[in-house]
Amino acid sequence: MAELKRLSESRDLTRIERIGAHSHIRGLGLDSSLEARDASEGMVGQLPARRAAGLILQLIRQGKIAGRAVLLAGQPGTGKTALAMGIAKSLGAETPFASVAASELFSLDLSKTEALTQAFRRAIGVRIKEEAEIIEGEVVEISIDRPLSAAAGSAAPSGATAPGKTGRLTLKTTDMETVYELGGKMIEALGKEKVQSGDVIALDKASGKVTKLGRSIGRSRDYDAVGPHTKFVKCPDGELQKRKEVVHCVTLHEIDVINSRTQGFLALFTGDTGEIRAEVREQIDTKVAEWREEGKAEIVPGVLFIDEVHMLDIECFSFLNRALENDMAPILVIATNRGITSIRGTNYRSPHGIPPDFLDRLLIITTQPYTEDEIRKILDIRCDEEDVEMSADAKVLLTKIGVETSLRYAIHLITSAALACQKRKGKVVEMEDISRVYQLFLDVKRSTQYLMEYQSQYMF
Ligand code: ATP
Repeated sequence: MAELKRLSESRDLTRIERIGAHSHIRGLGLDSSLEARDASEGMVGQLPARRAAGLILQLIRQGKIAGRAVLLAGQPGTGKTALAMGIAKSLGAETPFASVAASELFSLDLSKTEALTQAFRRAIGVRIKEEAEIIEGEVVEISIDRPLSAAAGSAAPSGATAPGKTGRLTLKTTDMETVYELGGKMIEALGKEKVQSGDVIALDKASGKVTKLGRSIGRSRDYDAVGPHTKFVKCPDGELQKRKEVVHCVTLHEIDVINSRTQGFLALFTGDTGEIRAEVREQIDTKVAEWREEGKAEIVPGVLFIDEVHMLDIECFSFLNRALENDMAPILVIATNRGITSIRGTNYRSPHGIPPDFLDRLLIITTQPYTEDEIRKILDIRCDEEDVEMSADAKVLLTKIGVETSLRYAIHLITSAALACQKRKGKVVEMEDISRVYQLFLDVKRSTQYLMEYQSQYMF
């Protein structure tokens, strides 16, 4: 449990300020009757697809999606990944979203079914509830550099000194046991938090984390964080120790890795998790089932997005067929930009290279190419997301480039143009910055042209 807690906390930290290609997507942008708004929650246009995704949400919420999957079919860069992420976000902040390209399954050091199993388990969340001992109280007095007050006893609690300070701590409280045990932790925590007299705080005994719950009424004097004197803590009589429920969310895959003796906790950060033994997974499933029965855990089905699904072979499709029947199965969303093509590993051709029995399980949504106006709006949103200020002229040029090349290429140019602007010590990205990076980085069309022109000079 401690490792799971550590994991969910460190993951929250690493999420901060990470700008992914889809970080602007916060939902599907639907109104209460599941009608798609023109531009909302980071989503622009693609109205019929978003409406259809809204119905999928309803199916999921009513528990009617079991055994089925969603196929997003459309040209590259038409928002298939964005839609899948929008579905996950609409299901709630804790809903895991795992994304994998089918071709990755064949290039890893793992067997393809192991890689698929890991992908599935990354998309299954476990909400674990734990009881933590929390002390709540009103900040009334803490004094440093003074012996513990007579009323509170004669011996100072061990370790009860502020970081970098000598001397002793006096806490005015009615429960000395708590003071002895927690004095050190509390003063350290208060030192980091700016706590004032009259603040009502909660201290988590296990982590030593102090949370401000609010202010008590009727006090006016403010104090700095732990200073040479005076900081006050009083806890209400008899109500010193409260038990509070803390919840952390992890994925089944993370539990697998933590418990896999060969890999361990750090493998989660390197991504090098290797093969996980079937016995480990069985034990974890049993444990999670126990927690669920005891009311200590709940399963949060997430969204597993498999891109380039035409790259899966017939064995992978049988795996998916079986996996969808599992009662913990995540919502499977697959995507392809292919039409009729052969099913990998066979001589048969079928729509999207998907075997007919699996096609039969799919709810198919198509995505359409964007209009110029939609491209402009998406680029606008991305500029905001990346904190890039861009002049109106530069935006017009970038939109034109997006129309003529691809939306993704234009999005990539935002970051590089901002760097070019920074280099010339500018504050606002101008047309010259866009032109500069457009010349520096080729889009697919120009790159192909270049290759055709200079083909003879390349190695075969
Ligand atoms: P591919 O077939 O190449 O995998 P895709 O259809 O999955 O492409 P995305 O990766 O979702 O396309 O879209 C490219 C970029 O444009 C992403 O940054 C995505 O977030 C953004 N985007 C696409 N569609 C929309 C939309 N409707 N609203 C807002 N942003 C979008």
